[in-house]
Amino acid sequence: MLFLGHGRRAANPLKVQFAEISDTGNHYEITEDSWFPDKEIRRCAPIRAHLQLVRENDSTVTLEGRLQTGVRFVCDRCLTTYDLPVDLRMRVILEYAEESLLPLPETGGTAAGPETPDTVMLDEPAVDLGDILRQQVLLSLPLKHLCRQDCRGLCPRCGVDLNVQTCNCLDQDDSSPFAVLKKLKKS
Ligand SMILES: [Zn+2]
Ligand SMILES: [Zn+2]
Repeated sequence: MLFLGHGRRAANPLKVQFAEISDTGNHYEITEDSWFPDKEIRRCAPIRAHLQLVRENDSTVTLEGRLQTGVRFVCDRCLTTYDLPVDLRMRVILEYAEESLLPLPETGGTAAGPETPDTVMLDEPAVDLGDILRQQVLLSLPLKHLCRQDCRGLCPRCGVDLNVQTCNCLDQDDSSPFAVLKKLKKS
């Protein structure tokens, strides 16, 4: 379960009142990108989001949708920059409850499986689609950044990128048991 923070900006174009949402569904095409967490993540493609909101009852709205964009990371191993396409499908239940009725945040709860939709508790009958998109993006991105699964990284001795070059550092490694053997042979 996710909790949205307070302190939203006034005149937010992505804020939708539950009262505006029909029970057959409202569709939103979003190219607005002001919600994107630019401080945390570098974006390298435009935002294209399609969201559908369906009002289930006065206090519950289901959100389903897809977000496409691209982000740029630096590889943890070889330090090159690479672009990662983002194509995210989401399903979120939005629940409005008066503040006094909100359940306490669970501590140490189990993470929801892919088939269990996230539930977001709201303290007013309105949803900021930017908040939802930002949360979904932050949750979906990998913690480890690798330009490719088998990136060989940089040589810890001479620093060459082992994906494009080889070096002889390991052969010259004095601390390896084989180097000791070589020395013994020579003497
Ligand atoms: Zn790499
Ligand atoms: Zn090397």
